[in-house]
Amino acid sequence: FIVRVLRVGESRTHIDHGKSTLADRLLEATDTTETISTTASGGGNKANQRVLDKLAVEKSRGITVKAQTASMFYTHPVSKITYLLNLIDTPGHVDFSYEVSRSLSACQGTLLLVDACQGVQAQTVANFFLAFSENLAIVPVLNKIDLPASDPQKVLRQLETAFDIDSSANVLQVSAKTGLGVPALLERVISDIPPPQSPVSKTEPFKALLFDTWYDSYVGVVCLVAVHSGQIRKGDRITSHHTKLSYDVISLGIMHPEQTATPSLSAGQVGFLHLGMKTTRDANIGDTFYAATTSPPPTPFPGFKPAKSMVFAGAYPIDASEFPKMQDAIDRLTLNDASVSVARESSTALGQGFRLGFLGTLHMDVFRQRLEEEHDSTVINTAPSASYQVAYKDERKVQGMEWNENFGRNVKIIRNPADFPEPDELGNVEAFYEPIVVGTLITPVEYVGGLMELCGTHRGEQLEYTTIDENRVLLKYKLPMSEILTDFYDTLKSRTQGYATFDYEESGYARSDLVKVNLLLNGHRVDALATIVHRAAAERVAKTWVKRLKGVVERQLVEIVIQGQVDGKIVSRESVSALRKDVTAKLYGGDVTRKMKLLEKQKAGKKRMKAVAGGIQLPQEAFLSLINGV
Ligand code: GDP
Ligand code: MG
Repeated sequence: FIVRVLRVGESRTHIDHGKSTLADRLLEATDTTETISTTASGGGNKANQRVLDKLAVEKSRGITVKAQTASMFYTHPVSKITYLLNLIDTPGHVDFSYEVSRSLSACQGTLLLVDACQGVQAQTVANFFLAFSENLAIVPVLNKIDLPASDPQKVLRQLETAFDIDSSANVLQVSAKTGLGVPALLERVISDIPPPQSPVSKTEPFKALLFDTWYDSYVGVVCLVAVHSGQIRKGDRITSHHTKLSYDVISLGIMHPEQTATPSLSAGQVGFLHLGMKTTRDANIGDTFYAATTSPPPTPFPGFKPAKSMVFAGAYPIDASEFPKMQDAIDRLTLNDASVSVARESSTALGQGFRLGFLGTLHMDVFRQRLEEEHDSTVINTAPSASYQVAYKDERKVQGMEWNENFGRNVKIIRNPADFPEPDELGNVEAFYEPIVVGTLITPVEYVGGLMELCGTHRGEQLEYTTIDENRVLLKYKLPMSEILTDFYDTLKSRTQGYATFDYEESGYARSDLVKVNLLLNGHRVDALATIVHRAAAERVAKTWVKRLKGVVERQLVEIVIQGQVDGKIVSRESVSALRKDVTAKLYGGDVTRKMKLLEKQKAGKKRMKAVAGGIQLPQEAFLSLINGV
């Protein structure tokens, strides 16, 4: 066999370009799966099968969350040579670009799939340059040409402007739904994507790149490797460069499309290994495995940057007694998603919980849905926040400093508003830093004004303005990460009737004037509602939140004062007057016991209450709507 490794890429968006559907057609065309029936007993719709979307959440949301691999045997119709192709179907959404970038290093080429109705989107641009910078062969493919609304000519012009792809260069046109053009696509893969360059010599010592890992309830940890040189068989002993631990290979094989045992894996192949690892934490993506006997050990692969949590939020069980159950559920889920970071935290209002770190807000939503669906446990998520960094004048007064390579100094990382410096510590703060992203927006020209305004109000700085066809514009903006966490994406979609697309990449940290907004009830902080914002927005945020909180506080026996506090100073205030006292006293005279009984009865009949600060209780539902509704 001649070995080629390719990858279906593109389209990190909700408006899906058809990558997973095309993967189905490729698996069929190579007899890797049986023809996926249109009238299958399960009522399966051919176009919506998506064999490689294996998680429940992927099926229900119709999005790919985890990159999936399949090996296929393809016999060229003319030469009759059989090729081994390896396909990686990647997620579309920006939050999972970590999945995409780690797949790239195991590939030689990429199919850049563009929906011929939607045209080039922000995600197309991001993925094109990702593949381009990795020197991968890029095969552009227009999909959905079965649809009357498709306009291949226009999309070809966009490809030319955005990527310098010659529109006369016979760009493939396919329908992943009907299978039209798929045979031609396979031929193009053979002609345009080179085989792995590594020496395909079986006598060299074994060396492989670990590029994916997951937990399988039957066999435990599964490692997916791209073999660079040599050969490996069952029973061989291999060593991890990163951990220096050695393992005996229990079994191995290829994904065809499920785990299929083979006698060996050789240079150029992609396959799975069962090594008897206890947890996926021992399997470090980007690690190098080599034959334990190799001496001296080989030079490792450059490795990936580990997944970095960008968005943090508290997660609490709705009912304190569910804490151990939730701990179990989180443990099980993170076995398969090492990109979620987990730490314990507690809150006066919410009790014992966790601070979870995610790659983005969709990642957060998906994780929460998986937690609830797959493990039957209800979760309260506090508002998402970015992670900030603080540099101090006198570091000795501060605990928990961490070394920051980029700044060349120690900083304190703040993943939770509760860790923000208190007013009396502010004098020792030298600078606050916040994470910055570079966002790409592609929009029909009539919405450009609205989007520029949107970016402006979110502290954006314009970097680029390019017209990519007669009515589409590409904008690039520098934006603080925190500005795109809450309503940015929804506003962008609603202002452009869904036509604009947005993607972003991290771009380091920048100095920023940050403050913490606290909400107080009778002088006590409601810790679950504290937020970190830019000084310019602080007062507005404090006022809005005081009003919102007033909206859910019910009158109680005492007056309740609601205050918004910025850096320790009160900037807004509302109050809820006390219920008229002694109503009961008048009716029941001095009979304290009867009065107490009556009050208790009244309380029991009420909705569930949550004590949130200083003993003040709010209806749980209203309080949760405040927390979750941001
Ligand atoms: P992905 O996010 O890029 O993996 O996209 P999916 O494969 O999940 O497809 C998104 C939607 O587009 C699904 O509803 C598919 O049925 C539909 N779709 C995909 N390819 C085609 C096509 O060639 N023609 C038509 N009409 N629909 C398609
Ligand atoms: Mg998909």
